[in-house]
Amino acid sequence: MSAKNDDHDPHSLSFAEAVRRVGAAITPVSGFEQLALREALDRVLHEDVVSPLDVPGHANSAMDGYALRAADLPADGERELSVIGTVFAGHPFAGTVEAGQAVRIMTGAMLPAGADTVVKQEDTQKRGEQVVVGTGHKPGANVRLPGEDIRRGAVVLARGRRLTPADLGLLASLGIPEVKVFRRPRVAFFSTGDELRSLGQPLGEGQIYDSNRYTLHGMLTRLGVEVIDMGVVPDDRDAVREAFRTATASADMLITSGGVSVGEADFVKETLQALGQVNFWKVAMKPGKPLAFGHLGNTVFFGLPGNPVSAMATFYQVVQPSLLRLAGEQPPERLRITVTCAERLKKAPGRLDFQRGVLSRDEHGQLVVRAAGLQGSHVLSGMSRANCFIVLPAAAGNIEAGSPVDVEPFAAFM
Ligand code: AMP
Ligand code: MG
Repeated sequence: MSAKNDDHDPHSLSFAEAVRRVGAAITPVSGFEQLALREALDRVLHEDVVSPLDVPGHANSAMDGYALRAADLPADGERELSVIGTVFAGHPFAGTVEAGQAVRIMTGAMLPAGADTVVKQEDTQKRGEQVVVGTGHKPGANVRLPGEDIRRGAVVLARGRRLTPADLGLLASLGIPEVKVFRRPRVAFFSTGDELRSLGQPLGEGQIYDSNRYTLHGMLTRLGVEVIDMGVVPDDRDAVREAFRTATASADMLITSGGVSVGEADFVKETLQALGQVNFWKVAMKPGKPLAFGHLGNTVFFGLPGNPVSAMATFYQVVQPSLLRLAGEQPPERLRITVTCAERLKKAPGRLDFQRGVLSRDEHGQLVVRAAGLQGSHVLSGMSRANCFIVLPAAAGNIEAGSPVDVEPFAAFM
């Protein structure tokens, strides 16, 4: 293999091993808070929620129709039953349905004593005070049984669950007004680089605006963590150390960007080594080979590469799952789908590649993916245009048009 077409680095950790190590090294933050149900949306349950009730709490009708005894269903022909009343949802029927009787019943209304079956209105005929029922009805039909949805004492939502709108409704249906959730992790971040200017400052020669703090702010905010933006730190050993110390005093996680390459002014890895422990600092992924991970006391540390696309890709692929773990969640497996690649993609074997793609349907309605413009790790416009990562295995070389490829739709995790 020529050096040019091979991207293999014996000092890099495989992506899978990096993810495994990070997963093994991170435990949830300690501390919880008790929140009213509405405030608990998107928060992570600190303890199992056990149902205090059967749901439904009582047998009720799934249809508008007539409640009757199964024994009164005719084997052939039809049967006339006397209608002795009407029962609405929320207004239980006082009497009992005896043989030869029926009660008109609305959806959700409690099944009257004596009745065990509901025949829906469209299958009956009203004849004065009588209702006529034919054949073909099953005993017990159209009845929702107590505890059919949820049994009292059952775990309805487990510790580690991030609460969705459906979950809030589920908890409300059980009469649960408050839940215990993990406190939000505090995440500090800063950018390193003498060339970086913050918005509002004039750009001198060779200087650029710091974009990573904005992408990080956005990505972190979406995850519901408390963000601490520490600004830009110059390429200076003491300044980097000082910033590390400040962050570890208050943050559960510190994320830096830049300064992890092998360049002379790259003090991040050195500082991690001096003040904490380096777990790894190179991963065989693209973009993003320099990616440092370690601990500073109790603070989890990630040193992201400075290139804007690398910083985002490493965040989404490695930092995000670990941040979910820190927040108390069991990170769900990320949705990957196999689609046809509509064009040729350039790739050298050696690193797992997360190219930026645009997923769409072709004229036959089939899902296809194309590259979202230039794939350089500094091309933020491509990342902005993309709606998925195209995940290409480490060993793969160029991908020919028409080949199947795996994609991760951004909508599933961003
Ligand atoms: P580094 O990892 O510090 O060697 O940076 C790699 C590349 O990313 C260089 O071109 C940097 O100028 C650029 N870069 C580093 N940090 C940022 C940032 N916060 N915003 C935009 N570009 C950056
Ligand atoms: Mg730098």
